[in-house]
Amino acid sequence: MGVAKQLYQLQEVDLEIEANEQTLNRLVSQLGKNQTVVEARAKLDSEQRRLDDLKRRQHSAEGDVDDLITKITTAEEQLYSGRIRNPKELTNLQHEVDLLKAKRDQLENKALEIMDQVELAEASVATSGNEFNKLETEWHSQQQQLSVDIELLQSKLSELRQKRQLLSAEIDPQAVGVYDKLRKQKGQAVAKVEQGICRGCRISLPFSELQQARSGNLVQCSSCGRILFLP
Ligand SMILES: [Zn+2]
Repeated sequence: MGVAKQLYQLQEVDLEIEANEQTLNRLVSQLGKNQTVVEARAKLDSEQRRLDDLKRRQHSAEGDVDDLITKITTAEEQLYSGRIRNPKELTNLQHEVDLLKAKRDQLENKALEIMDQVELAEASVATSGNEFNKLETEWHSQQQQLSVDIELLQSKLSELRQKRQLLSAEIDPQAVGVYDKLRKQKGQAVAKVEQGICRGCRISLPFSELQQARSGNLVQCSSCGRILFLP
């Protein structure tokens, strides 16, 4: 096998290593990331706090209504007890009862409004709770999958690196040196030649260069410097 073909094969392995390393880095960067779960938790907590607050307000409004009912009962007992005979005093008491009843109605309406809000808030908390549980479960299974994928990639990479070592050991060290230098400079060190064109720089090669490349020896493109490989 010509050295150009050997270097081309080495490059294929190197590109595969590079691609796998990029994927590995991407996966590793996703480990532990749970922004959506954190946001869903914050939403749930804030809705829960709002619900607790509404329930406290509902409880206090109901307490106020109960107090008024007690006051009304006491006042009405006095009103109909027959103990008060003074008409002016009776009128005043009746008036007070009316005022208390109006206040009670008002507070009862307020308590009902709060109750409606409590029901809505309870529904929101239930929805957000489900959403949070769903996201958290998904996140856990994603993380598990990530760990599996990372392990697979790592073992694939170690196989590839071994393969690379074996390949490069079979190639003339000087040629590997040229290859490594070009890889660093250009990313792609070996360029295929197709229809007389260097695929590295897309320039038509002179006939003499093509002839040399055909021999399979290490020939560099006179235009871009890449090692030419005629498949
Ligand atoms: Zn070229």
